[in-house]
Amino acid sequence: MAYRWPAGTTFKRIDLDVQDRSCPACGRAMHVCDHRYHHLWTLQGPTQVGNRLVRCPDASCETRGCTFSPEAELSISMPRWCLGWDVLCWLGHRRFARHWSVSQLRAELQDTHQIRLSDDAITHYIGRYQTMLAARQQDPARLADGYQDITSLGLTIDGLPPEKGHETFDVVRELMRKRVWCAAPLLASAPQEGRRLIALARQWAERLDKPVRVWMSDKQDAFVTAIAGEFPGTPHRYCQNHFLRDVAQPVLDMDSRAKVKMRSKVRGLRAIERRVLADRRQAATPERPLPQESPQGDDTPRIDPSEAATAAPWAPGALGVATTENAPVEDAAGEIVLGYCAAVRGILNDSQGGPLRPPGVRMREALQDVRDSLARNLQAQKGGLQSHC
Ligand SMILES: [Zn+2]
Repeated sequence: MAYRWPAGTTFKRIDLDVQDRSCPACGRAMHVCDHRYHHLWTLQGPTQVGNRLVRCPDASCETRGCTFSPEAELSISMPRWCLGWDVLCWLGHRRFARHWSVSQLRAELQDTHQIRLSDDAITHYIGRYQTMLAARQQDPARLADGYQDITSLGLTIDGLPPEKGHETFDVVRELMRKRVWCAAPLLASAPQEGRRLIALARQWAERLDKPVRVWMSDKQDAFVTAIAGEFPGTPHRYCQNHFLRDVAQPVLDMDSRAKVKMRSKVRGLRAIERRVLADRRQAATPERPLPQESPQGDDTPRIDPSEAATAAPWAPGALGVATTENAPVEDAAGEIVLGYCAAVRGILNDSQGGPLRPPGVRMREALQDVRDSLARNLQAQKGGLQSHC
């Protein structure tokens, strides 16, 4: 649908001419026969491009009936688009490199550039941007250029879950140039989809005229048969990562049990924190009796993040009691205790890590560090040294 410009819009005018005014067939100077106007948004605001169309004056010339348009028109925008290339690139870059939402894009276009577009229009142009980008990525000439100095190819296929609620993507990647070649959503009922991707990869490899040295995957049955069918004789290896993960599964299970044990042993952080905060409140308002907080009832392991948040000393509620009504209490010792509690809680909640660096082993090392640190402090105190760390 054509863009409806508000009444009274003032346009910046750009006039374009064909580069060579001589007729390509007979060489006579061509005459302007018509004008075509194109109204569009550029980052400079509303723009009117006036194209002067020309044709050969010689009625017997073989270009008779042909009209020539200025070549420069396409460097500003595509015909009938309401956006210039600059706005299209602005949209695409912010959408895909910075992950802006459509409503964010609309608001920013309006606020900063006074460009008024609907969400539908933005979605539509982002779709065009994606199509162009995909075409560019798959352009055979560009690909051949990128693979000039590569002697053989290594291909992988793997399923990637893009976002929650979306079906898994089967992605074919080439390892020597580290490029994604092609991808397709894997529909549970269609094993031939994977086969289609592998066939496509074969076409690409043939077009590049490079041998495929190896295929790698997690060796799902569908992949194994499809690769054997499309690439007879090409070795098909396990993906190292999948292989390691499968082999190390018993280790990871043991590691997970060890973590549960450590968490059940290191507990009571919340009770300690409560005591520090209660002491502070008492110090701040000595004349007012406080409702006694029970340090008991804290026998759950410290792994629930929501609970951790309510008990955290930096939570606004916890600090607010001690500091909003009164001056902050000088409590260096309490601060250190709260610091230790926060560190230990962080250690207990950290569950990242693969088979080469199991999280339980890291947790044990970190807890030992805390223990050593506490021991050093106690030692320093015995020796009469003032130490705060
Ligand atoms: Zn002519």
